[in-house]
Amino acid sequence: MSLENHPKDAMLHDRSIGELGALLDRGEVSSLELTRHLLARIEALNPVLNALVSVTAAQAIAAASLADRRRAAGESGPLLGIPLIHKDIFCTDGVRTSCGSRMLDNFIAPYDATVVARLKAAGAVMLGKANMDEFAMGSSNETSFYGPVKNPWDLGKVPGGSSGGSAAAVAARLAPFATGTDTGGSIRQPAALTGVTGIKPTYGRVSRYGMIAFASSLDQAGVFTRSAADAATVLQAMAGFDPRDSTSVDLPVPDYRAALGASLKGLKIGLLKEFSDGLEPRNAALIEAALEVFRSLGAETLEMSLPNLPLSVPTYYVVAPAECSSNLSRFDGVRFGYRCEDPRDLMDLYKRSRGEGFGAEVKRRIMTGTYVLSAGYFDAYYLKAQKVRQLITNDFRAAFERVDLLLGPTTPTPAFAIGAKIDDPVTMYLNDIYTIGANLAGVPALSMPGGFIDGLPMGVQLIGPHFAEARLLNAAHQYQLATDWHDRVAPGIT
Ligand code: GLN
Repeated sequence: MSLENHPKDAMLHDRSIGELGALLDRGEVSSLELTRHLLARIEALNPVLNALVSVTAAQAIAAASLADRRRAAGESGPLLGIPLIHKDIFCTDGVRTSCGSRMLDNFIAPYDATVVARLKAAGAVMLGKANMDEFAMGSSNETSFYGPVKNPWDLGKVPGGSSGGSAAAVAARLAPFATGTDTGGSIRQPAALTGVTGIKPTYGRVSRYGMIAFASSLDQAGVFTRSAADAATVLQAMAGFDPRDSTSVDLPVPDYRAALGASLKGLKIGLLKEFSDGLEPRNAALIEAALEVFRSLGAETLEMSLPNLPLSVPTYYVVAPAECSSNLSRFDGVRFGYRCEDPRDLMDLYKRSRGEGFGAEVKRRIMTGTYVLSAGYFDAYYLKAQKVRQLITNDFRAAFERVDLLLGPTTPTPAFAIGAKIDDPVTMYLNDIYTIGANLAGVPALSMPGGFIDGLPMGVQLIGPHFAEARLLNAAHQYQLATDWHDRVAPGIT
């Protein structure tokens, strides 16, 4: 099928999940046609963007045909027959799950992650697996074994990370939605830098079963879409208790879509002093403009302070590496993935398999983590970081006694050039200065497009109290009804 022969198809990739669902329901398009259209688009654009590391065309065709048969048999559902791309951190039964690493380049997952299983059950059609920073460690997608992802807005720029492939894929309209994970900002930061909407739910809201662990007390699955309304639809299918994840929380999942239309009159939004201090003036102007939109929608805005928030980055870079050093000890050359050639003995097998299988950033994290956990340093680093983490959590709790949501930037700058920061870890780590706090406190947060700097998209971040995803999506949806930043598409990627 070529685009020329089917003019209606040329528009399919521009449609929202809601619009595609209506087309499928009316029989104006089949999931098979939609899937073929997007696979053709991936074939044309992925060699440029490098957003996907695996394209699962045959499985996608089979899943789309199944969705069409289910619909013909009278079934319906908002994701039945809707294509998606999974971050390559989610185990997918029978499909390579590489986590962006040489270590897992040959790993075929023997089961589906709960997120994958739930979306499959809802009838969503996986087109492939998205590129990502190795083991989700990075803010630019440059640590991937498969090479950097290109930002659709400027092919010389990074898309952010670690879920950069997912973000770039949605921004380039290769799929209407993609999954991601966020340990310190890996959904919100790439969403901001590619001009899409990304939500990191409350820790425990979405199952981590089958999601390859980086820092287990911080990792959370979420989604990239082009709008908050679409994010509500997808999160509805992803969220909920899973007995196979011991940190999954057994609370009912509210009707996110039903909450989208609520008025924002009287909503109290706090602007964080710690975020606005020192903010680049053009970024500050975008934040002020977003606050003005919310005020025009009836919200009240006030400035407030979370005094311990500036400690987020150093705290995270103790806690996350500590957990990573423990989690990644399972990659030993014996049970999973890469194994070195001709090991002399067991120690040689461990050393060379890990030495050759892991990239530089992952090794840096493992070494830092091992250090902060080691006897003599544990109290000085790890224990102290846990205490500061509690102070940050308390700050958020106190803030949410006064306001319903917090608002601030998602990133300090727009997308930067590929290669610009990769040799300077601390500069790279500072990309997450505004996102890490929400992970340490476990609260949900969302990034939505809020304007441009130098022709590149910028995000506005909303942070809510635990389990307030419905409120975040409602506020973002109302903002998106009043603005059109989220409708802008990257020029050149038509
Ligand atoms: N950029 C942060 C890091 O490198 C966060 C990554 C993430 O959220 N997975 O650790």
